[in-house]
Amino acid sequence: MVFACSDSRVSPTMILNFQPGEAFMVRNIANMVPPFDQVRYTGVGAILEYGITALKIPNIVVIGHSRCGGIQRLMTHPEDGSHPL
Ligand SMILES: [Zn+2]
Repeated sequence: MVFACSDSRVSPTMILNFQPGEAFMVRNIANMVPPFDQVRYTGVGAILEYGITALKIPNIVVIGHSRCGGIQRLMTHPEDGSHPL
């Protein structure tokens, strides 16, 4: 299983030379892996549960990349208490 950013400059298939069917991909902004929660973040939670229990995936790789806009936005959290994107 590979977590990667939605950024089109980052292609796990090209970087890791995967063939079709060789890896289970999860892509979202800033390759986020949220904490376990049965109510929130259920999309990623369902992917993890399915991958681990049904597909018996033995390894999970998280691919970060330089100049990630999602991480940049996360690191510039407003100090005035307003909500970031
Ligand atoms: Zn990114």
